[in-house]
Amino acid sequence: MFEKILIANRGEIALRIQRACRELGIKTVVVHSEADADAKYVKLADESVCIGPASSTQSYLNIPAIISAAEVTDAEAIHPGYGFLSENADFAERVENSGFAFIGPRPESIRLMGDKVSAKDAMKQSGVPCVPGSDGALPEDNDEIIRIAREVGYPVIIKAAGGGGGRGMRVVHTEAALLNAVSMTRTEAQTAFGNPMVYMERFLENPRHIEIQVLADQHGNAVHLGERDCSMQRRHQKIIEEAPAPGLDSKLRDAIGERCAQACRDIGYRGAGTFEFLYEDGEFFFIEMNTRVQVEHPVTEMITGIDIVQEQIRVAAGEKLRFKQKDIAFRGHALECRINAEGAYTLIPSPGRINQYHAPGGPGIRVDSHVYQNYTVPSHYDSMIGKVIAYGDTRQQAMARMRIALSEMIVAGIDTNIPLHQDLLTDANFIQGGCSIHYLEHKLAELKKLREAAKS
Ligand code: ADP
Repeated sequence: MFEKILIANRGEIALRIQRACRELGIKTVVVHSEADADAKYVKLADESVCIGPASSTQSYLNIPAIISAAEVTDAEAIHPGYGFLSENADFAERVENSGFAFIGPRPESIRLMGDKVSAKDAMKQSGVPCVPGSDGALPEDNDEIIRIAREVGYPVIIKAAGGGGGRGMRVVHTEAALLNAVSMTRTEAQTAFGNPMVYMERFLENPRHIEIQVLADQHGNAVHLGERDCSMQRRHQKIIEEAPAPGLDSKLRDAIGERCAQACRDIGYRGAGTFEFLYEDGEFFFIEMNTRVQVEHPVTEMITGIDIVQEQIRVAAGEKLRFKQKDIAFRGHALECRINAEGAYTLIPSPGRINQYHAPGGPGIRVDSHVYQNYTVPSHYDSMIGKVIAYGDTRQQAMARMRIALSEMIVAGIDTNIPLHQDLLTDANFIQGGCSIHYLEHKLAELKKLREAAKS
């Protein structure tokens, strides 16, 4: 096992990784920007290194500074967390070439999955069901593009092979709009991702977002840890996640989960990963793989009892997975609410000082957050300030505990989206379960209309 790990991230996930390391008896080095110098998790780490100014391009994305921090502190491995450099194959390669272990997949796997065209190709070969669409990237020939779209069937979605973060996509409803949409997406993709390649998929009208968590070691073993339903999204960003997915048949879960585990074995995947699917009418359609730990990993930890971050570290150190598929049992239900520093309904970021803070607690409640009273949320980064996770024997109990937790929680001095979560937890459709990925956007639009009507 490693003696010392460098954490190349910030906020709640930096603290989460630190806790995993401490439990395993591993010393931690936290790198931070000038804006995060006073963060409590920085003080809690065994060592800390300031790697640059607030701007993430000069700090959390500064590869040479992170590698030198690992060198001067004699760290043996680097955990990239999520976001920032976590899915950057060049970073993973530089880390390994500098003699450190990268706590994540091999650079080749990150590269394969980072290009959505090659990712889909690899998944098809492993028998993972994909959204019907073009066979690889779209050709230059216009007649051919028109022919492919007819075959796929309208509406279609044009997506950038190098896309991410919900950008580089365009929905097309009619043939008249097709060629223009393809060329616009190509231009955008070139500018945003440096890769003009685009592909086409059938646009699914009312899907849910269901993803499968996997874990694989360096010895050819892979298991799945079941699914998470992350359909509650606004602007393609998840805000509530849960496990298991309401109403999903356990046989269907086992079948799709095993496909994903097999795909990991086929590509020699190592570490934790997530296969994201759109799910419609009882069918799964692969859209992409995330080759890192995800924000929503705790809900899976709650229902499996497996510490995903610790397993990532063990696997990176060369250990074999400590369990087989038959050893993994799913028990109870867990929900996660992402707490963001933003207007609950305006979605406008609200950084600043938290002048009063009280975290909820009680049976089944877990709070993953780095904030505290008088902490100042910096304006330079993502607006998420923490996550409240509620576990119960049943979904009903988990929801009841979440409602109580949210009512106890105090975050004053800044705006947060806690009221929106409270609205959703009393929403009849959410309570019933199984809403599509468009549900929250529709609800927000309706609430906006109501507010405007009330004003006038
Ligand atoms: P990104 O990497 O940018 O997040 P994804 O491929 O994961 O891109 O797609 C992001 C979101 O776009 C999905 O969660 C879904 O809401 C929507 N989307 C993508 N592909 C399709 C499709 N074929 N049909 C319907 N919606 C889609």
